[in-house]
Amino acid sequence: MLYVSTRGGVQPVNFEQVLLEGQAEDGGLFLPAQYPQLTDRWDSLKRLSFSELAYEIVSLYATDIDSKSLRTILHEAFTTFDEDNVVPLVQIEDLHILELFHGPTLAFKDVALQVLGRLFEHVLQTQGRVLNILGATSGDTGSAAIAGVQGRDGIGIFIMFPDGRTSQLQELQMTTVREKNVHCLAIDGSFDDCQRILKSIFNDIEFKRHASLGAVNSINWARIMVQIVYYVYASLRYDEPVTFSVPTGNFGNILSAILAMRMGAPIRRLVLGTNENDILARFFISGEYKRGAVQQTLSPSMDIQVASNLERFIYLYLDGDSERLVRFMREFSENNHAVLRQNGRIDTTIDAYRVDTDETIETIRKTWDSYGYLVDPHTAVGVAAASRTQSEGPIVCLATAHPAKFPNAVNQAIGKSLANHPRLDALLEKDAHKVKLPSDQEKVRSYLEANIIS
Ligand SMILES: *Cc1c(COP(=O)(O)O)cnc(C)c1O
Repeated sequence: MLYVSTRGGVQPVNFEQVLLEGQAEDGGLFLPAQYPQLTDRWDSLKRLSFSELAYEIVSLYATDIDSKSLRTILHEAFTTFDEDNVVPLVQIEDLHILELFHGPTLAFKDVALQVLGRLFEHVLQTQGRVLNILGATSGDTGSAAIAGVQGRDGIGIFIMFPDGRTSQLQELQMTTVREKNVHCLAIDGSFDDCQRILKSIFNDIEFKRHASLGAVNSINWARIMVQIVYYVYASLRYDEPVTFSVPTGNFGNILSAILAMRMGAPIRRLVLGTNENDILARFFISGEYKRGAVQQTLSPSMDIQVASNLERFIYLYLDGDSERLVRFMREFSENNHAVLRQNGRIDTTIDAYRVDTDETIETIRKTWDSYGYLVDPHTAVGVAAASRTQSEGPIVCLATAHPAKFPNAVNQAIGKSLANHPRLDALLEKDAHKVKLPSDQEKVRSYLEANIIS
């Protein structure tokens, strides 16, 4: 399989390059040149375990990884999950939930990042290279990335976070990891300060090369690729086409659903749910992409105004017309506003809804009262969005985090203290270690110089 850049400015590259580079040099995002069709194979695919199905799908895209290594990588990645079938599908009356939160950090990002860490290690070893991952996090991504690469050969990871401004649990999920290749940098500043430092370090191309710096953000194609697996897996559990409801921030998770549909998975429609940061809901309803100010909500992993993965959707929507895509992206970056389709609904297979804080709390409470099932605030956004669609047939809501990751919102909504998980409780007993640094890119850079793997 070869990969092209959405912006059309680079020669096609192979999977290993896509994995290690993350973003294309022309500023675009990588997408495969084709989408293999699975339609003829449903009956045989139905019988496979999650990890076997993952192999069948991932091997179509990661064609330059040898099959024995790929099988091992996928198998090992998914044995870190607490459930045998990795992503259990729970059905209580008309509530259908795909639980994606049984990985090491109890959030859906583990599904892809457990695979990614192992893929990185394998490819770096075969190429005789090393990688130092630098990231900035306000919460979930940092811990899932650390869990994916901790203790792996040839990889260092440096995660910046705003000191004292992430939740205690989120901080402990990062700082209690004691592997030598993991560095938690508590920056005396805001999340924006962390991102500013990140950008200025990445913009120094010479330093970036010298330090073999890389990123693990949600634009890496390999993450989107792995996520396709659970959509196919879940849709194969039904006798009729299903609808998925996906709580959305960066448009990564739902993009994988769109690609599963392209591969022929029996998916009827998609429901996109946002919190008050509703740029995507507005876009899908009106055709207009317009930036707003970021608001803090109960679902912090979706407090995003610019969805980096949307570029991939727009490229597909424009049938691969990179010139039009580049014009659209340029207009948006200059004016914070661009129109893809005048007064128009973008895609009739996608229903989009904005779910506010009151409705989120109400949904957590109602889901508990009616079904005895506890959802976290991100999942609640998807459940609320699902309740508004007119789609026929089963609607499967994606549960993207374990409720115990957000105990305050959940316990408050149900009026009882039920949101807990033994692994999170155990964090409180562990030794934590973080490196406090001022909000100063020179200080961060000196720390990197002294601690990178080379
Ligand atoms: C990251 C995250 C999301 C949003 O996923 P996107 O791929 O950015 O749309 C939703 N819920 C949780 C719990 C997350 O960690």
